Amino acid sequence: MNSAYLRRFPDDKGYFGEYGGALIPPELAEQFDRITAEYKRISRSADFIQELRYIRKHFQGRPTPVQYAKNLSERIGGARIYLKREDLNHSGAHKLNHCMGEALLARHMGKRKLIAETGAGQHGVALATAAAYFGLECEIHMGEVDIEKEHPNVMRMRVLGAKVVPVGFGGRTLKEAVDSAFESYLDDTEGAIYAIGSVVGPHPFPMMVRDFQHVVGIEARDQFQELTGLLPDHVMACVGGGSNAMGIFAGFLEDEDVRLHGVEPMGRSTRLGEHAATMTFGEAGEIHGFRCLMLKDAEGNPAPVHSVASGLDYPGVGPEHCYLREIGRAEYAGIDDQAAIEAFYALSQHEGIIPALESAHAVARAMEYAHDRAGETILVNLSGRGDKDLDYVVEHFPPEDYIEPR
Ligand SMILES: *Cc1c(COP(=O)(O)O)cnc(C)c1O
Repeated sequence: MNSAYLRRFPDDKGYFGEYGGALIPPELAEQFDRITAEYKRISRSADFIQELRYIRKHFQGRPTPVQYAKNLSERIGGARIYLKREDLNHSGAHKLNHCMGEALLARHMGKRKLIAETGAGQHGVALATAAAYFGLECEIHMGEVDIEKEHPNVMRMRVLGAKVVPVGFGGRTLKEAVDSAFESYLDDTEGAIYAIGSVVGPHPFPMMVRDFQHVVGIEARDQFQELTGLLPDHVMACVGGGSNAMGIFAGFLEDEDVRLHGVEPMGRSTRLGEHAATMTFGEAGEIHGFRCLMLKDAEGNPAPVHSVASGLDYPGVGPEHCYLREIGRAEYAGIDDQAAIEAFYALSQHEGIIPALESAHAVARAMEYAHDRAGETILVNLSGRGDKDLDYVVEHFPPEDYIEPR
């Protein structure tokens, strides 16, 4: 651990400044307190550390490389852009980093089952992967609307042996899936553990998920130094809930000269309902059992959101991001759908890497920011690969409109 900050935050109640906490009913609070205590004890044990290290290397294929995006950088002619290749992590994205940690914790706590909700299905697939590895049961709650939209991920979860529970009440999307998953968890708190998919939710999840993602920042810092002899001037990552960003930021928090940039989805327009830019347009409030900046409708409830990248369309954001901006340690900017699509094609045709649309937001911001910054370096966390987005992109933004002849 390189960091006094990481030991100091969150505080004992799970707060980063005024954000975070565990604002949940007493019966859930009791369970989450137990998870916190067990996590603190187990995650420091030599067995746990050894096993997680083994898994990182031999199952996930870590460390993932850091690569200089030479072609892209030279075309822009400004700052040099580097990529931390989380798209090469097993199952194609950073999410497995915390799912393996959560599942290993479940094993050490003697649980037999993992329960979670999923929106677009990415978290469900990563958790189902972890459950298969450990031989745990896995129950994923998913709104019927999302099941309809995200057919390939539903099939992946089923093939991996997870049970997908369709949620048919209310709006039949993520919010209802959360309620349904909590209910199922409360029925079986002895045998099951709840596994959240980002640095959100009640304490201890923002802390735990950050700690499990920290491996990205630790590796990237070493690798970048090995490659260039220096630290990067800028570190960039897309922010949905904020787990891939917190993972890479955590490696550089104590390096005051390294500027940290979160990139959030500006969607189609700045009108409420057409973006998911929580840091730009949000106000303080309460969502899913914690306090953060959030987008609200007229009644103060979570507003509808949109992004071309389904992993980024969340009306809240991790509490630690709110805090890091408040103290001036991290800065946040928006990228709209169109710029993300252009970056998706640019990275594909000039570097031979098809990025996830979420990750394409970070790449787009790096491309924009690199102008006029010759001599500086930008390290982008490429959170995942884009296979899951291909059908959608090709149908709505055909290659003919974006590919330049060679
Ligand atoms: C889920 C997802 C994200 C967004 O989640 P964070 O918690 O903000 O990191 C980003 N990239 C990919 C590839 C994802 O699957």
